[in-house]
Amino acid sequence: MAPKDKMGRRLHDLRISVTDRCNFRCPYCMPKELFGPAFEFIQRQQLLTYEEIARLARIFVGLGVEKVRLTGGEPLLRRDLSDLIRLLAKLPGVRDLTLTTNGLLLPKFATHLAAAGLHRVTVSLDSLDDGVFRRMNDVGVGVEEILTGIDAALAAGLTPLKVNAVVQRGVNDHTLVDLARHFHGSGVIVRFIEFMDVGTTNGWRLDDVVPASEIVECIDRALPLEPLRANYPGEVARRWRYRDGGGEIGVISSVTQPFCGGCTRARLSPEGKLFTCLFASAGHDLRAPLRAGDSDEELRQQLTRLWGTRDDRYSELRSAQTTRQPRIEMSYIGG
Ligand code: SAM
Ligand code: SF4
Ligand code: SF4
Repeated sequence: MAPKDKMGRRLHDLRISVTDRCNFRCPYCMPKELFGPAFEFIQRQQLLTYEEIARLARIFVGLGVEKVRLTGGEPLLRRDLSDLIRLLAKLPGVRDLTLTTNGLLLPKFATHLAAAGLHRVTVSLDSLDDGVFRRMNDVGVGVEEILTGIDAALAAGLTPLKVNAVVQRGVNDHTLVDLARHFHGSGVIVRFIEFMDVGTTNGWRLDDVVPASEIVECIDRALPLEPLRANYPGEVARRWRYRDGGGEIGVISSVTQPFCGGCTRARLSPEGKLFTCLFASAGHDLRAPLRAGDSDEELRQQLTRLWGTRDDRYSELRSAQTTRQPRIEMSYIGG
């Protein structure tokens, strides 16, 4: 039986963060000054193994999960990631198996990922302006390298491909139309994401958020848009299509128009903690029971219980928050 949480929400998506390491230092996610050489990342032996991840994923699928996304940190930094994809692709019931990446390593891995059974990818690319993009990854990677990665993914058939762009006022908001125009008519779906107050290290301020309504108005002025219906209940992006038939875009408005009521996502951290909300400050350890020899049935019961007690709706309550609680970082849990 698929469990429902306290607000009647089912479990539909599982996001698996396979590493907390990254080859970028996007200031809105892993600011260089804080994630420098002295930063203590999770040790290898602390990470869930691929067999452990696949076992948990199978139990999650039994509880209603149909969509599995691998993320990080940068998931393509985890060694032999295709081995994990091969295990996940075998699970009956997974209708959508995807991965979010910064795209830098796609030229190397795209064909392997596709051959292992990955369905599609989302590539993060915040701007097509080289100077802006270099500032936003803060490790000197240029736009061309990511476009090459996107081409490699398209050639490998990892479609429909989505591009994620986090929008920050005064940083890349003047380059949104260029990004939309570049992918207009290509079949690639660009999704503009409101800058979120995830974690505690990115210096988030409400003033830095460009509201989704403003993003849509800005694109609409250059490339007229009309609203589209959600693909399924709980879809995070609001969909818009170009009136000229040039495809669609999405806007993820977790700050100005929260969507907790339809939130069907569970998140698994690299070392096996379950988080039922992106803004949680603590997770539930699943690695200890896994390694202590709990049976599938015992794990299933634990997951059912954890989901059943869930009442998270941080984004809806955000405006009422007066203090900032400690929170997990985006680079650890993966969005
Ligand atoms: N490294 C991979 C990447 O960048 O695609 C996967 C992990 S990254 C944490 C997942 C997504 O979260 C990316 O699209 C990234 O842009 C987004 N993200 C990170 N920090 C964010 C923030 N503060 N607000 C909104 N989105 C954020
Ligand atoms: Fe790395 Fe992705 Fe975070 Fe950028 S957004 S620092 S690429 S994990
Ligand atoms: Fe889901 Fe938490 Fe985000 Fe609300 S704030 S949509 S409950 S992850």
